[in-house]
Amino acid sequence: MIPDANGHVCRALTIAGSDSGGGAGIQADLKTMHQFGVYGMSVITALTAQNTMGVRGVVETDPAFVAAQLEAVFSDLGADAIKTGMLATAEIIATVADVLQAQATGPLVVDPVMVAKGGTPLIADEAVELLRSRLLPIAQVVTPNTPEASVLVGFDVDTWDGVHRAADRLLNLGTEAVVIKGGHLHMQNTFPKPWRVPHNQVVAVDTVLYRGAYTYFLTPRVESQNTHGTGCTFSAAITARLAQGVPLLEAIADAKAFIYRAIVRAANWDVGHGHGPTDH
Ligand code: PLP
Repeated sequence: MIPDANGHVCRALTIAGSDSGGGAGIQADLKTMHQFGVYGMSVITALTAQNTMGVRGVVETDPAFVAAQLEAVFSDLGADAIKTGMLATAEIIATVADVLQAQATGPLVVDPVMVAKGGTPLIADEAVELLRSRLLPIAQVVTPNTPEASVLVGFDVDTWDGVHRAADRLLNLGTEAVVIKGGHLHMQNTFPKPWRVPHNQVVAVDTVLYRGAYTYFLTPRVESQNTHGTGCTFSAAITARLAQGVPLLEAIADAKAFIYRAIVRAANWDVGHGHGPTDH
């Protein structure tokens, strides 16, 4: 932590689920915030009994106790930026939205977590509508991957045109900016000409819509088993940089570079028997 001359330390809050395996959720968020020199705090919305092989069980936090954690943080420490991750039920989302609307001051990053890598659902179907109607209107940025974007907009986001239409649709729900993560997309052939990359080189493109303009962030695509928690780490990195007062596009660029390096460094790690963590 590097305080300023007045002793001020940048503070970031994650509102998310715990991953006992340490690769995703709260654990990934706090480690990532620490890497950026930001003081991390956590409101835990669910416990998962989980390892690199999958999710064995989930216990949701009582919504009143989610509220109690939020009140404890805001009444004393405060937060310069906030992110949400796994919010399992409509009641938890409504509670989080109520408290954030009344008490939060910093920017809000919404990572619309829906399924774990192994396919276990992490949000109830009926809760998705609450993400749309209660959280996106108060978000600075929402960070879906393409399967999550598809659920949020109601059509398959699997083409280059679909990515742009989805970003537009999400922006209309009230968030200031949208990042659609391209890690799940394989549509190399449809990219604009300047992006044509050497044969066999595959890129991962994140599409950002902000203030009426699209910005594209490209990195080489890394083939790795160890990608558990990549979405959490990316959105926590954006949150950490926003907590430090960095402008949004710069925060996204820094987060993209951070997650790329974290995946590259962990690509040959032997941690667990399934989808291992990245080096956050
Ligand atoms: N949050 C929790 C608590 C999780 O267990 C998971 C995945 O298992 C996620 C979020 C999402 O993980 P990822 O960043 O890999 O999409």
